[in-house]
Amino acid sequence: MIYLKNYINGELVEPYAGQYLENIDPSRGTVFSMIPDSDANDVQKAVEAAEAAEEAWANLHYEKRAAYIEAIAKGIEARMDEFVAAESLDNGKPLSLARRVDIPRAVSNFRFFATAIQQQSTETHFMEGLGVNYTLRRPIGVVACISPWNLPLYLFSWKIAPALATGNCVIAKPSEITPYTSYLLSEVCKEIGLPKGVLNIIHGLGPKVGDALSRHQKIKAISFTGGTATGRTIASIAAPMFKKLSLELGGKNPNIIFADCNFEKMIKTTVRSSFENQGQICLCGSRIFVERSIYDKFKTEFVERVNALSIGDPRTDVNVGAIVSQAHYNKILSYINLAKEEGGRIISGGEAYIPEGDCKEGYFIKPTVIEGLAYNCRTNMEEIFGPVVTLTPFDTEKEVLMYANATEYGLATSIWTENLSRAHRMAEKVESGIIWINCWLLRDLRTPFGGMKNSGVGREGGWEALRFFTEAKNVCIAY
Ligand code: NDP
Repeated sequence: MIYLKNYINGELVEPYAGQYLENIDPSRGTVFSMIPDSDANDVQKAVEAAEAAEEAWANLHYEKRAAYIEAIAKGIEARMDEFVAAESLDNGKPLSLARRVDIPRAVSNFRFFATAIQQQSTETHFMEGLGVNYTLRRPIGVVACISPWNLPLYLFSWKIAPALATGNCVIAKPSEITPYTSYLLSEVCKEIGLPKGVLNIIHGLGPKVGDALSRHQKIKAISFTGGTATGRTIASIAAPMFKKLSLELGGKNPNIIFADCNFEKMIKTTVRSSFENQGQICLCGSRIFVERSIYDKFKTEFVERVNALSIGDPRTDVNVGAIVSQAHYNKILSYINLAKEEGGRIISGGEAYIPEGDCKEGYFIKPTVIEGLAYNCRTNMEEIFGPVVTLTPFDTEKEVLMYANATEYGLATSIWTENLSRAHRMAEKVESGIIWINCWLLRDLRTPFGGMKNSGVGREGGWEALRFFTEAKNVCIAY
């Protein structure tokens, strides 16, 4: 049995209280490792280590900080197979997906911010005949990064890399459901000799470790990705303490398909945007709106392709792996039942899948397609975050905009049309922080990333992340 450890002050250490939680392989339903069940004492030790490291790290030349961050990227690359296997085992995602997306992206995140910090410039504002202002950006100090289970190392590194690059010391908490690759990351940080206390990784439960991070007086900023309800809890604690907050929250993303789209490109991408990572990507399009004139054609081809997706043991060559946990599996199945109660017709999937062999106790759900629901029923309003999509026909742009904007969320939208004017009109009016036209998940790490409405506050990515993790000071000099 593997016992994971916390990474505090440059050392791999046991949790203060000596307690552990079980870590389950969701494709088999069996325990494969034990995770520190840390508490406020572990957080306190990490804060002390981070405070001790803060001044030296903030004052280290940015090229030297960048060199450490690049060394982390190389350290992950050198152990690529191990990271890929760990991510798939912990999360249930197909090994091929972890190899194609998750781990390469974690490497890119570190590499991107190691480079970005060397390109950062600052603003100046001249006051003709009087003086000049310049903006001085300094690290915030000790910051917390809290991330979810769906893209474990991908999202963990997306926060840690800019926080470190800008000269902050970090206390990071992965989801206790998928802690394995963040543990491997702490081994890499030790291997490359990252200075002590600069990065601390604490494992454990959100309501214990996450709560202690939100409440700690010395932690001045929190970058959080997770559910909207958790974001609300963190904000209610941290906002009155005037902590800087970046909240990347839930979504219920529309995928809007006009009859004039490139059908082949659209349908291929729509299968992916519906079911990649078992639909557990915050950017997956779960409400598919199709212009009525191509609705039947779309439905027939889509269902045919969905039925052809292979599902099963993530270590084999499959399209769809396991759902991340039993609790989440139960939640998704309960939403499928709700959809039926609300009058939905299941036209593909709609039930659990039981593979043969040693994955028979795993948490698998067939990719599910539902039609016949009202645009504003609960199934179409609440985040399911699984392999479940609904199909709804529409007649006009005005109507589909109303459907698309009807939820409390505003994270991402895909729009499929070859009509350029319509694409721009829709992009302007749709209530989403991220809009893809004729594509999905095409990411440029320099662009602002985040949601509006209840999908979040603030933006990550590129300069936005470097700005979030720094305090801006205006320095005014009179001639
Ligand atoms: P949660 O909100 O349950 O958890 C996210 C993180 O917060 C975990 O590390 C969790 O710890 C921790 N946490 C839980 N409770 C608290 C608390 N009281 N105080 C501080 N931290 C806490 O989300 P999930 O892990 O279930 O992730 C799925 C959600 O994430 C979905 O809603 C999805 O849409 C959203 N998401 C948003 C993205 C975006 O960019 N907008 C991207 C990816 C996902 P633990 O797991 O250990 O309990």
